[in-house]
Amino acid sequence: MNMSNATLVVEDIHKSFGSVEVLKGISLTAEKGDVISILGSSGSGKSTFLRCINLLETPNSGRVTVNGETIGMRYPDAGEPIPVDRKQVERLRTKLAMVFQGFNLWSHMTVLQNVIEAPVHVLGVSKAEATDKACALLDKVGILDRKDYYPAHLSGGQQQRAAIARALAMDPDVMLFDEPTSALDPELVGEVLKVMRDLADEGRTMLVVTHEMGFARDVSNKVMFLHQGKVEEEGAPQDMFNNPTSERFKGFLAKTR
Ligand code: ADP
Ligand code: MG
Repeated sequence: MNMSNATLVVEDIHKSFGSVEVLKGISLTAEKGDVISILGSSGSGKSTFLRCINLLETPNSGRVTVNGETIGMRYPDAGEPIPVDRKQVERLRTKLAMVFQGFNLWSHMTVLQNVIEAPVHVLGVSKAEATDKACALLDKVGILDRKDYYPAHLSGGQQQRAAIARALAMDPDVMLFDEPTSALDPELVGEVLKVMRDLADEGRTMLVVTHEMGFARDVSNKVMFLHQGKVEEEGAPQDMFNNPTSERFKGFLAKTR
């Protein structure tokens, strides 16, 4: 495989919960600057797939390679599984930043404290330097004036933009978004999508689980549709949306229109 330009290579991820296999061998390659939208009905395995990529869930088998470093290799059928190296997992997590549907900010910390926490305590950046950078990122997502607020005093859109600033503060190679706008009131969706669109325009590499078909069609350059833990259809958005081939994807599109 030519990995010269690939930032993220995910190979043949399998994941079972008990006897139920929810991911049945999913692979994905993201080149630098790719924005890949991951679509699928509820329960198709989208969140589990993202969580396996940054090892919030341990896949039963498969491999994840970020900028040439491969981890997460386990073969349950070939004797003892190869244990995942904790140090490697921590390193991988700093390269892959996750933004969740429910924002997941620390409620007892201000916005600024949320953004500097990991750079200071995980990367060992000085507090002064982390604060300067955090302020620049909060300005970029349009909430610098809210830096000393606690999350409970922000709107959902502001909280999600704070969560995006927190993810950016780690200088991740790839950003993973799991339905970042699904918990928002409709009038707040646009401000978060705008920030994500700006990140895409900057050349950030992003995997985005979303039900926002406008974003998938207009912002992403690759689209993947999952059905029952498998890739049912994938390709460029213009092909996928104008000429869907699988009946299931056609049906999915019909329901979202
Ligand atoms: P999606 O994000 O596409 O809605 P999920 O990845 O959340 O789908 O879930 C895929 C399937 O895996 C669902 O059937 C779900 O119930 C199951 N599942 C997810 N997480 C767990 C878990 N921790 N334990 C057991 N089953 C789970
Ligand atoms: Mg989900």
